[in-house]
Amino acid sequence: MRVADLPLAPEYVEHFEREGIAELYPPQVAAVEAGVCDGDNVVAAVPTASGKTFVAELALLTADGPGLYVCPLRALAREKYEEFDALPGVDAGISTGDYDSAASDLAANDVIVATSEKVDSAIRNGAGWVDDLACVVVDEVHLLGSPGRGPTLEVTLATLRRRAPEVQIVALSATVDNPEDIAAWLDAELVESTWRPVDLRVGVHAEGTVEFDDGSSLSVPVDAGDPASDADTEATAELVRGAVADGGQALAFVASRREAERLAERLSEERLPAVADGVDRGGDGDGGDEGDGDAVDNRETAAVEVAAELREAGGTETGDRLAETAERGVAFHHAGLSSDHRALVERSFRDRKLSVICATPTLAAGVNVPARRVVVRDQRRYTGEGTEWLPVLEVHQMCGRAGRPHLDPYGEAVLVADDREEREGLWDRYVTADPERVESKLRDPAALRTHTLALVATGIAGSQTEVLDALGGTFYASRTSNPNLGGVVGDAIASLIDDGLLAPTDAGDDAGIEATPLGEQVSRQYVTPDTGVRIVEGLEAVAGMDPETVTELTAFEIVCDTPDMVDTYLGNAERAEIYQFARTRSAELTTGMTEAEDFEGWLESVKTARVLTEWVDGASVEELVAAYRIGPGDLESRIERAEWLLGAADAIAEVVGVDMPAFASARKRLVSSTEEEDT
Ligand code: ADP
Repeated sequence: MRVADLPLAPEYVEHFEREGIAELYPPQVAAVEAGVCDGDNVVAAVPTASGKTFVAELALLTADGPGLYVCPLRALAREKYEEFDALPGVDAGISTGDYDSAASDLAANDVIVATSEKVDSAIRNGAGWVDDLACVVVDEVHLLGSPGRGPTLEVTLATLRRRAPEVQIVALSATVDNPEDIAAWLDAELVESTWRPVDLRVGVHAEGTVEFDDGSSLSVPVDAGDPASDADTEATAELVRGAVADGGQALAFVASRREAERLAERLSEERLPAVADGVDRGGDGDGGDEGDGDAVDNRETAAVEVAAELREAGGTETGDRLAETAERGVAFHHAGLSSDHRALVERSFRDRKLSVICATPTLAAGVNVPARRVVVRDQRRYTGEGTEWLPVLEVHQMCGRAGRPHLDPYGEAVLVADDREEREGLWDRYVTADPERVESKLRDPAALRTHTLALVATGIAGSQTEVLDALGGTFYASRTSNPNLGGVVGDAIASLIDDGLLAPTDAGDDAGIEATPLGEQVSRQYVTPDTGVRIVEGLEAVAGMDPETVTELTAFEIVCDTPDMVDTYLGNAERAEIYQFARTRSAELTTGMTEAEDFEGWLESVKTARVLTEWVDGASVEELVAAYRIGPGDLESRIERAEWLLGAADAIAEVVGVDMPAFASARKRLVSSTEEEDT
C-alpha cells in the first residue's frame, strides 16, 4: 500500500514522501485496514520504530475536526509537537508544563499535544476545546498499568468519551501481553504485530559467548582485565567496543546514576574507534575498523563539538565530567543531569556524534535513541530496601532500541550474565518471556480520592451513584463484570468529607455530595487531596505563629512536605546537619521537632526547603549540587514542582482565609532566580 493511495490531500502525500515514507510498513497497512482513516477506534500494539507516529498522523489528518495527541511522557511531547507542526497547513499547540501554549490559544489549534495530566487539568478547569475533539490519539497506552499516571489516563479517557461520544480513539501501545483488553475497553479494532523495520536478535552473554534467540552465537571473550573491575563490566565494555569497532553505536544500561558515570568514564579512558560517518559496514562479526581516516577525524571533531556544547549549556561538576567523556565519544545519561544536558546527549547520539551512551533504565522508556547494539549489564534496580528485577516490558523496551532503520543491517540486544547458570535464568525471565499484562491501578485509594474529588468538583457527579456511573467508562470497570467499586468509592467519599473537601447535600434520597470551596480549589490547582490537606494544616499552624517568624522558609517547608513534591535523598552524613538546621530555624517551621508523624520524611522535606531557600537567595546550581549531593536535574525538578505547589498553596490560603504572602513571594523569587539562570 502506498501513501499516494490513502485518502490524503496531495500536499500531505508530498510531505510524507519527502520524509522517506512512500510505501506503508505492514503494521501501518493493518491500521489502515482497521479503519484508522475512517474514524474508527484502533489499538495498535506494535514494536518501537515500526512507524506509530505515521499511524497517529493518519488519524489526525483524516479526522473531521481538531485532534488531541496524549503523550504520557513529557520527554517525547516536544518531538511529536514539532513533527505535527511541520505538516503542511497544520497548526499544532502544546501543553505539557514545559513549553505551554497559552490556554486560550489551544482552542484554535488543529492538533494539541498534551500529557494526560494536562488534559485532566484542562477538563477540571472547564476548557471548552475538549468537547470539540474529533480524534484522540493516546501514545504509550500501556502506561495504564503504572500506579501514578495510569489512573489519570483511564479516567481522562473515560471523561473525554463521555463528553464527546463520537470521538475517534487511536491508542498506540508497546507490545504487551493483553492488548485485546485495551481494545475491548475502547471498542476498538486491534492491530497486533511483531514486525520491525530492522531485524532484532536478543541474546545473553556468559563466559565469553553470546547466545542469541535466532540460534546464532557470537564469541566475545573477556579479559580478566582490570582487577578493580568486575566480569559483567568487562563483558559490557567488550560488547560496546565490538559494536563501535564495527561502525555502530551502542547503548549500555546499568542500575544507577553512579554506575552509568563510572562505566562512561571507564569506556572513555580507552580510545574507542570513532563511529563511521554514515558508513555502514554490515557484516556479522566484530571486525575492526581500519582505514577511513576521514570519518574517524570527523567523528572526533564531532565529539569535541558536543563537548563544547555541553560545556556551554551550563558548568557544573557533573556537566564538566560529562563533557570530558563526551569528548571521547562516550556519554552518560540519567535523571540527575540537567534537562539541557540530557537533550544534548540524546540529540548528539541520534546525529551520530557520540558512539556510546551509558544510561539508567529511564532512557529506554522516553526517548528515541536507536543504536546498533544494546547491552543490558544490570537487570536489577535499587529500591529503598534492596534490589528488584526490572519488569519484562522495560527490558524489552531497552532491547527494542537496537537497530537503526536504514543504518544497521540488524539490531542486537545482549543481556550480561555472570555465568551459564544465570544465563538460563535471564533467558527464561526476559528473552523468551512475554511482557507483563497491563492491569488497572484505579483501585488504589489515593487515586480514587483524587479522581472522585475531581468528578464531583467539575460537576460530573453529585452523588456516589453518579461517581460510580462516571467511573463506569474506565479500563478498570471494563475489566471486571462486578467492579464493586462501591465500597472503595464510599470510603473515598467519606474520607474526603472528613477532610473538608466534600460536603453532603440534602438533595433527594441518593445521598448527594458537593465539593466545598476548598475541595474545588484543590481540584482546580491539580494537587492531590493529601497535598491539599497538608497545605491546610500548614496554614493552621501559620495562623498561630508570630507573623515575624513566617518566612519563605515556612512556605517552602509546607509545600516540600506534601506528597506532590519529589522526595530528596538524605544521606546519613547530612542528617545531623539538617537536623541542626531544623532546630536552629524551628521558629519558622510549621512542624515542631517532636510533632512529625514521619520524622525522616519531614527532615527530607526540610532539606529540600533549605536547598530552595538558598537557591532564591542566589546560590548557584554548582554550589547546591556540591553542598547537597543532588544532580542539576534534581534541582530543576524540585524548582519546577515548588513553583506549581506554591501557586496552589497561595490559592488555597485565600479560600481558607489565612494571610500568607510568603507563598506568592517565594514563588516570585523562584521564577526570577530561574529566569536569571537561563540568561
Ligand atoms: P515508533 O513506532 O517508535 O513511534 P516512529 O513513528 O518514530 O516509530 O518511526 C520510526 C522511523 O521510521 C521514523 O524515522 C519514520 O520516519 C520512519 N518510518 C515510519 N513509517 C515509514 C514507512 N512507511 N517507510 C519508511 N520509513 C518510515
